[in-house]
Amino acid sequence: MKHAAEPEVLGGVGIFERNCAYCGARFRVRSIASVDEIRAQPYECPSCGKTYEMLAGEPPHVRLLQGRTDGKDDRYQETIF
Ligand SMILES: [Zn+2]
Repeated sequence: MKHAAEPEVLGGVGIFERNCAYCGARFRVRSIASVDEIRAQPYECPSCGKTYEMLAGEPPHVRLLQGRTDGKDDRYQETIF
């Protein structure tokens, strides 16, 4: 009789879409959560480079869906006072 309690790999592939809070571009983020360690992973807006973070097993893949809507072409910069 086989063990019924074999560990099952939770093949978590998460896909979601979001709008960049800075430039308004829309992009899709695909992450893989099937590895042992889940930690905060940075990812960037493909249009302006603003960084975000999410919990995932490895750095997420980002794909631009729609260009930015703010009419500018600058890069996001963390402002340090
Ligand atoms: Zn952006």
